[in-house]
Formats: sequence, C-alpha cells, structure tokens
Amino acid sequence: MRIDLHMHSTASDGVYSPPEVVGLAIKHQMDVIALTDHDNVDGIAPAQLAAANTSLRVLAGVELSSEDDAADRHVLGYLVDTTYVPLLDKLRQLQNARIERVQQIAAKLAAINRPISVERVLELAGDGSVGRPHIARAMVEAGHVNSIQDAFNRYIGDDGAAYVPHSRLTPSEAIQMIHAAGGVAVLAHPGHYEDYRAIIESLIPLGLDGVEVFYYDHSSTVITELQSIARHHDLLMTVGSDFHRREPDGSARIGSVHVPAKLPIVEAMEVRAARYR
Ligand SMILES: [Zn+2]
Ligand SMILES: [Zn+2]
Repeated sequence: MRIDLHMHSTASDGVYSPPEVVGLAIKHQMDVIALTDHDNVDGIAPAQLAAANTSLRVLAGVELSSEDDAADRHVLGYLVDTTYVPLLDKLRQLQNARIERVQQIAAKLAAINRPISVERVLELAGDGSVGRPHIARAMVEAGHVNSIQDAFNRYIGDDGAAYVPHSRLTPSEAIQMIHAAGGVAVLAHPGHYEDYRAIIESLIPLGLDGVEVFYYDHSSTVITELQSIARHHDLLMTVGSDFHRREPDGSARIGSVHVPAKLPIVEAMEVRAARYR
C-alpha cells in the first residue's frame, strides 16, 4: 500500500494544480493520497474528479494553522465533509483575515516609505493563500530589498518594522472545527516542535485524534518516540511527505516516506471519524 496523506496544491502554496498533483501521484503509483492545503478545501473536489476511474483514492484533507502561546501548531483534518457550510464559512473568514493582514502590512510599509501594491501581492499569490512570502516578493520587485530573506529580516519578520500579527485559530478551535465537519484531527510534523511530547499531551484533552508520526524529515529517533506516545494514548499514526513542489534535482517526494506495511492507517482513521458523525 503506497500512501501519502500530506500534500499541497495551488489551492494553497503548492505549485501544481489539484489535477496535476493527482497525475503525479498516479505516476508515483500511489494507492491513497490526501490533499491538505493550508486553510483551504477548494482543491479536494477537482482532485477527486481527476482521480475518478483510476485506482487512486483521494481523501479530503486540510491543514489548519493554529496558534498557541504565540507558537504555530499545524493541525491536519482528514475525512472532513468539504460541503459542510460552517467549515467553509470559517475557512473563508481565515482567507479574508489574510488579505486584511496584507493591507495592514502594506499600510505600515507605505508609512516608512517602502510602498508596495496590494494588487500585485494578491496576483503573486494566485489561487493560493496569500501571506508574507508574497509581500516579500513584491518588495524585491519594487527594489526595496535584495531578497525575500532581507524583506523578512528588515521589515516583515516577527521583529520587523512592518510586522502585523496573524489572527488565527487556537488549536482547540481547529480541532473542534474538524470534528464538527466529521473529520479526525492530527498534529502535523510534531518533530518540528521541540517539546512535542508536552504539546501532544496538552492537545489530547482538546480532542486530538492522531499524530503525523511518519513525516519526511523526522529522524528514526523521533519516529520511535512518536510511535510510543501514539500507542500509549491510543492516537492515530499518519504519514506525509508535505509535498509542495519538485526538489531542485527534479524528484518529487510523493510517497517517499516509509510506513510499516501492516499499519491500517486509513481504516483506523475511518473508525475514529465515526465518533464525530
Ligand atoms: Zn505544516
Ligand atoms: Zn503542509
């Protein structure tokens, strides 16, 4: 069974459209994938349509950015009902908040004589979720900075003169919204958080269903520890490559993350999701 449950498309910050992601997954002989765009489920229906009449199964997914004590926590939602109106309303609100944030940052930049065009920033984001990387690109184009990193360091990074904080979901809100849409909530790439054991244990009472144990840059030590935490707390274990684009050498890491052959990942998610239906 070849499975990859963490992939992005142009519905957020990936470079391939949902049907193109499906095409690549078929080329990589995948059996099951999930599209998990940031704060967006618009790619699911086109991806599922593209996979119809093939042996590839495309699961509905989403990656919600939440914030806890001013630190980012990404929560993956799987098997969510992508027609559930309160979910779509909330995702639209988050999208609007992103655009308002761009406008606020642009106003701060204008006030310090570094004007950028909000329209240009939105154009750079295309169909995807607009954010600071697009502002940075507009600043490079306008000649205010030499590089994207320079834009973050001097102006729009967390200590920059034009920084504006994000209005985001709390992890608890993210988990509740996923459950309300009939899905399971999984902590993405726990290995990116230094104190992941404490974070996981703090999210369990909030309803966390699983952890992304098998992630492309997790070390074998991290994987072993996450497996033991998941077993101890009866949490789902999921797998993901966090595919956004091809690597510089042309390879794509779709399906590159190894999982134990007998682990019933999708079946376990379906059983768990039945709790929220
Ligand atoms: Zn993430
Ligand atoms: Zn991701």
